[in-house]
Amino acid sequence: MYPLKYKLSLIFLLLLLSVLFGYLTFTSLASSEADSSYIINTIPDAFIFSAVVIILSPVIFGVNVIWPIFLVSSAAILVASTSLGRHIYSLQIFAILCISLIIYFFYKRKFDIVENDITSTQKIKESTNLLKSQSIKAKKVNRALSDRLGRYRNLREIGESFSAKLSLQEIYNLAADTAFSMIPNSDAALLFMIDEQNQNLMLTSSKAKSELPRVKSKNGDIFDQWVFKERQLLHVENIDGDFRFDYKPLQRERLFASLISVPLIAQSRIIGILRLNSRYKNAYTFDDLRLLDFISGLVSSAVNNARLYETTEELSTKDSLTGFYIHRYLKERLSEEVDRARLNNSRLSVIMFDIDHFKDYNDKYGHSAGDKVLLGISKIIRDKLKNGYTVARYGGEEFAVLLPGVDKEKAREIADTLRKEIESRKFTLRRKQTRVTVSAGVSAYSEEAQDREDLLKKADFCLYKAKKEGRNQVCVA
Ligand code: GH3
Ligand code: MG
Ligand code: MG
Repeated sequence: MYPLKYKLSLIFLLLLLSVLFGYLTFTSLASSEADSSYIINTIPDAFIFSAVVIILSPVIFGVNVIWPIFLVSSAAILVASTSLGRHIYSLQIFAILCISLIIYFFYKRKFDIVENDITSTQKIKESTNLLKSQSIKAKKVNRALSDRLGRYRNLREIGESFSAKLSLQEIYNLAADTAFSMIPNSDAALLFMIDEQNQNLMLTSSKAKSELPRVKSKNGDIFDQWVFKERQLLHVENIDGDFRFDYKPLQRERLFASLISVPLIAQSRIIGILRLNSRYKNAYTFDDLRLLDFISGLVSSAVNNARLYETTEELSTKDSLTGFYIHRYLKERLSEEVDRARLNNSRLSVIMFDIDHFKDYNDKYGHSAGDKVLLGISKIIRDKLKNGYTVARYGGEEFAVLLPGVDKEKAREIADTLRKEIESRKFTLRRKQTRVTVSAGVSAYSEEAQDREDLLKKADFCLYKAKKEGRNQVCVA
């Protein structure tokens, strides 16, 4: 309450008074010798001394000490005055009593106010501390929320990128990149897709810090197998301390101490695994796992959509029996190739094949036998032609081939090779061996055939000519 310095100076003052009081008593004792009135002379001094002590006591000892001091002082004065028959000093005791009362109430009030002040200061301090800690907590929550908001804002953009028309490989790469960049502390992101045929995991895309050794096990390790089997999220905080796994790395092939991994689920089937590794223990939080799961959801639906898109596109542009493109697609491609040939002054040829007397073959062996022949011929064409040529089933039993960069003579050679190959092939039907032949017409981009329609018309005309001239032959425009 009161500073120590202040209290000490008051104690010093009291000591000074005591010395003065003692000195006065001593001098009066010395001057009056046998006269007992020396005690009487000291009584007013005792009174003054008591009054001063009472006045100062609340400051030095606290307000509650006034009464004991008052009692002691009064008793002393009373004993002295009654033994000497000086009842007049009882009035002094009464005066001390009054002074004590006034001082008591004065200080009591002051102390109460101070006490109240102290209590309210403490309360203010407590609430300030509470507010401070709440503010720190709020700041933390705020930071976490803004982090999360940032992450989710990124996710929205990523969601949009995934929903853009991407090829499957682009989606796979974007998945690994996104997981790697969005979840900090990662040393590697791995995307395994499941090979539908043999139900194996295949490392399809990965992103890693350049100083790390490359992943050797392309079919996943025990952690990936666990996620594949359990179809659950996996969070391993420390690979050495996780009782579920007895992981023994092959020549430190993967440098990691903790990981998170999630399954990619599409139409209730597991289609892959997205995983993050870190070389540090406890690198990932539960929030990171949730975020990875969210990314895996985006990846799964993007993969599913891309696969569906590929299938529908295939269905809409390819013939179901032979797997070759349909007539419309070939015409579109031919227009493009004609433009390119014109622009680059390059070569371009078209071959048209038609099976000879196929109606008779169907009539003789049945329609399904005819289908087998169509399939056989398409296989020969596919096997014999190199990639880069576009083949279409142009009509019922007609095929057309676009050969960019190939001149008329080379196209004729190719057509004749195919014709010979088909002629020599035996189609076995109910242990009976049958054969078919084809006729072909060849046209090439030239001064006479400068657009799509000309090229098709000329090839068709040559085919008609080959038929007319005895079939099983190639005719060139
Ligand atoms: P040509 O030598 O003059 O070409 O005689 P062709 O009998 O082959 O005559 P054309 O080309 O006019 O006849 C086409 C025949 O091909 C008619 C049909 O029976 C058969 N055909 C067309 N599409 C299919 C098919 O998808 N499967 C089967 N099995 N036969 C088909
Ligand atoms: Mg025909
Ligand atoms: Mg025919």
